[in-house]
Amino acid sequence: MTIQIDLSSQFNLPTELNLSLDEGRIMLSDQRMIMLHIAAMGSLRKELIETLGIERARGLLTRMGYASGVRDAKLSRKLMPDASDEELMMMGPKLHMLEGIVKVSPIKIDIDIANGKYFGDLIWEHSYEADVHIDQFGVHTESVCWTQIGYATGYTSEIVGRFILYREPECCGMGDRHCRNVGKPVEEWESDVEEDLKYFNPDHIADQLLKLQEEVAHLRYSLDEETAPGDMVGSTPPFLKTCEMLKKAGESNVTVLLLGETGVGKEMFARALHGISSRANRNFIAINCSAIPEALIESELFGVEKGAYTGAQHSRPGRFERAHGGTLFLDEVGDLSQAAQAKLLRVLQEGEFERIGDSRTRKVNVRLVAATNVDLQQAVDAGRFRADLYYRLNIFPILIPSLREREDDIPALVNRFLEKYTALHGKRITGITERALKALKAYGWPGNIRELENMIERGVIIAANDTRIDVPNLFPRLNIDQPAPSPTLGSQAAESHAAQPGQPSLEQMVDQLLDQDVPLALLENKLLDRAMNRSKGNLSFAGRMLGLTRPQMAYRLKKYGAR
Ligand SMILES: [Zn+2]
Repeated sequence: MTIQIDLSSQFNLPTELNLSLDEGRIMLSDQRMIMLHIAAMGSLRKELIETLGIERARGLLTRMGYASGVRDAKLSRKLMPDASDEELMMMGPKLHMLEGIVKVSPIKIDIDIANGKYFGDLIWEHSYEADVHIDQFGVHTESVCWTQIGYATGYTSEIVGRFILYREPECCGMGDRHCRNVGKPVEEWESDVEEDLKYFNPDHIADQLLKLQEEVAHLRYSLDEETAPGDMVGSTPPFLKTCEMLKKAGESNVTVLLLGETGVGKEMFARALHGISSRANRNFIAINCSAIPEALIESELFGVEKGAYTGAQHSRPGRFERAHGGTLFLDEVGDLSQAAQAKLLRVLQEGEFERIGDSRTRKVNVRLVAATNVDLQQAVDAGRFRADLYYRLNIFPILIPSLREREDDIPALVNRFLEKYTALHGKRITGITERALKALKAYGWPGNIRELENMIERGVIIAANDTRIDVPNLFPRLNIDQPAPSPTLGSQAAESHAAQPGQPSLEQMVDQLLDQDVPLALLENKLLDRAMNRSKGNLSFAGRMLGLTRPQMAYRLKKYGAR
């Protein structure tokens, strides 16, 4: 059954309202409408305000009203193609009343569509929105008829063909006797239009929430970094045993020698030792002896006095002075020059040294943590390392386990690195697949934790947002259907240098280079240059391609004057 209500006589609207009771449809001309309980609208509105805050809720409701206004304006124009500007304009208030929103009485309306002129001043009575707001929140300091302001703005803007902004200087929601709204072209409002306009611009809440979430993750990560030395994660016996040793060393000022394969995280353990020692709130200074040219290592460690040599235009302290009261971490200590070894021995024995070119003796109080992945005893036997210095350094050796020895720590480390690099690169990665985790556990890890960290970072960069990291993200050269790489030491090197189908082997490439008489220096220079190009100038990434640390890479580039 359909009930037809002719609106032309009662409402002076040239259309009808059709209630198709058995169809479940209400049609106003060709627009489908719904009847909604004010109470339901009220609770939706309340929930919007309480969950999104009043500003966001206001924006959503304003835009909802605006959309209705625009629809009704289009309907009006269709129903009354020959109407005057005033007649067309007054259809809006009539429809608004018909829809049960509010009673509208115009005080003044000046409209000239052809010249884009408009001024409207109207009274609203029985505003449902003001009623609902007062019921739920009481009297407000600003106007509250947000969908209605949106509707008036949408309707009039569509009719006039330019943005007509309405404001509500009086509102029942503010305790006024009635609501009053004034509309004119947005350019003609004197002040603070931006404040009003922001409610008409959609904001992408989901995007903003995700962005905030990423910021939180990043901040949380930075906080963790400060309190706990980053990647000290693990629960396997070899790891815990090392931590126990570290704790014992932390209780005294003993010189510590950290031993272990490359990439096991010696600097991280050195930082952890500093962090649990009584020196924790003083400087931790790290230096990688192999990354600094032999000629510079002494001045780096002990400082320079102005005029000590050509180019020494300013006096500057060395790392020992900067670490005063704290901890100095000397990585790759086996690479120190003989002269530096002698000076280091003296600091360890007497706690004193001189800057280069200075006669004044300086005293320092520094805990030394040295590290090496070469066999120092062998270096002593070969005459490359001073025996007396070796004994001084070797008072409290701590062997850091390789990643192979603590395979069960891999999942925890993976999580840690995922957290770190998703935050750093602003990615949303949901985790890692079982298959990928299995491949990681089966791998030989010649580069230890550093290699794992690099691999996870690369995986985070390569994997698409909202996916899990899978085998091809970690081992790009590995076919998924192939078994995981065999867990033998050096398998990575073998794998990455193995010839791909249709590509020459490393031997063949070397032969070609030799045939062409390519000088070694040129080859190295070219490799550095290509790596820098591929990494778009990122030193760390370029270094990783060549198995170099960032400082090693920087040094080599400087040497060749490439950049
Ligand atoms: Zn109001």
